[in-house]
Amino acid sequence: MGTATKIERVMSMFADLLFPRGKVCAWCGRPVGRELLCTECRREVYSWREEYHPCRYCGRLLPAGQGDTCRHCQEERPPFQRARAVGAYGGILKEIIWALKYQGRRSLAGPLGILLAGVVLKELGPESPQLLIPVPLTAARLQSRSFNQAELLARALGRELGLAVAGQALVRVRETAPQVGLSRQARWQNLAGAFRVPEHGLVRGRRLLLVDDVLTTGATAVACTAALLSAGATSVRVVTLATGLEVIANISP
Ligand SMILES: [Zn+2]
Ligand SMILES: [Zn+2]
Repeated sequence: MGTATKIERVMSMFADLLFPRGKVCAWCGRPVGRELLCTECRREVYSWREEYHPCRYCGRLLPAGQGDTCRHCQEERPPFQRARAVGAYGGILKEIIWALKYQGRRSLAGPLGILLAGVVLKELGPESPQLLIPVPLTAARLQSRSFNQAELLARALGRELGLAVAGQALVRVRETAPQVGLSRQARWQNLAGAFRVPEHGLVRGRRLLLVDDVLTTGATAVACTAALLSAGATSVRVVTLATGLEVIANISP
């Protein structure tokens, strides 16, 4: 056996230890190397990067050439410091979220937690969060679904980052109605009191990271952030799997 072959064997044994063979894409089941998703699935999840960039505040995806702040954040800055997502709410990412949420494919949470961790480390700024807060469901919704997908994601993310998850820190009192078409005052009435913090001591003086599956209008993240800040949190940032595309039709009146 030549030296080159020996080295190759040792290298491949080492690779097997690190990345056991037979790994498959967490979504489509095609074989993969060390990645969670196969090349095709990854390409689809990250395809937005070619045409869009995130709003500097809320992370909603803006078409190239539309500036760095979306229309919503120009009108009114959100109370959270910054929100970022893995990708656009559509295509494969939408299907993955659907499977997690409505088909109960909880095993997806682990790989998705790793994708979220990538966003937190790369895109949410240098200050690390101290506590993860999943966006809660109402008690009725939790009972009918039997689990909260945001909490599964927060726990998977917490394992990646070595951070605690405060699943009870925030309580959802009621659903927030869609914000579209409401006046500013009606929007705030709609949001105020949708969430509450039963134990202020859990969040007071801490940098929080709010975790959810999707950020679309941002209304839920805004309502959660308002409740957490009024309970004394130092800051709130937001990470989600998917976020909305700010299409040009929405920008012009
Ligand atoms: Zn795949
Ligand atoms: Zn924005």
